[in-house]
Amino acid sequence: MRKKIVAANWKMNLTIEEGKTLVENLLNQLPELNESKQVVIAPSYVHLAQTTQLLDEYEHIHVAAQNVSSEAAGAFTGEVSAAMLRSAGVPYAIIGHSERRQYFNESDSMLAKKIDLALANNLRVIFCCGEPLEVRDAERQNEYVANQIAAALYHLDATQLQQIIVAYEPIWAIGTGRTASSQQAQDMHAHIRHTLAGKYGASVADNMTILYGGSCNDKNAPELFACPDVDGGLIGGASLKAETFLPIIQAMLAK
Ligand code: PEP
Repeated sequence: MRKKIVAANWKMNLTIEEGKTLVENLLNQLPELNESKQVVIAPSYVHLAQTTQLLDEYEHIHVAAQNVSSEAAGAFTGEVSAAMLRSAGVPYAIIGHSERRQYFNESDSMLAKKIDLALANNLRVIFCCGEPLEVRDAERQNEYVANQIAAALYHLDATQLQQIIVAYEPIWAIGTGRTASSQQAQDMHAHIRHTLAGKYGASVADNMTILYGGSCNDKNAPELFACPDVDGGLIGGASLKAETFLPIIQAMLAK
C-alpha cells in the first residue's frame, strides 16, 4: 500500500526560536502516525539541525531540506550538497519547487542532476511539478506536467523511482488562496499515475505517493485528501501554525 504523507514547506519563514516553538507545539498534540501515514517538515537549512534533534525520538515524522545543490562539492558559495544533508541526518529533500524554477532559473536538466545526487546520497525526493495559469487556461496542463515528469524522472530506473514522492502543485494555486478543486486535483493525480504507469508499469505507479500542494488548508484538506489518487499534501502557509497544520495531518490520517 502506498504511503500517505503530509509535508510542511516552511519556505523562508520563522526564526530559530519560532521554529522550535512550532515543532514543540506540533509534537505536543501530534496524533499517532505509523509506517504508512507520515509527516515531513521542510524548514530552511539553518533549522535542520535543531528540527532533526527535536524529532529524534519520533519514528514517523521526518525532516526535509527545501532544496539541494546540483553540484556534488567544491567552489559553489552558498550551496548545500546532498552529501552534507545526508551527513546531517536529513532523509528527504524537496526538488523542483516552482519558486526555485521561477526565481532561481532551475531548469529540467539541473533538476535531473539534483535528483541523481540526492538519490546517490540516500535522500528521498519530494519532486514538485505543476503548470502555470496560462497553461491551465489553454487546457494543456496534462501535457505540460507529463513533460516535466519525463524531463526530471525518466532517466531513473524503477527502483530509483520508488525513492521519489511526486507533489503536484499548480502554480496558480500556490500562496494565492485559490485551490484546485478536488476534481481538478484528482484528474491530474490520476493523469500523473497513468503517465508513470506507461513508463514503469502499473504496480510501480500504484505504489507512488502523489501529494497535492497549492493553498491546501485545514478547511479543504479533507475533501482533497478524499480523492482516490491524492495521497496527502505539500503545505506552505497553513504549515506555519500548529492549529492549522494539525487538522491537515488529521485529514491525512482519516484517509
Ligand atoms: C508550497 O509552497 O509548496 C505551497 C503549497 O504553498 P501554499 O500552501 O502556501 O500554497
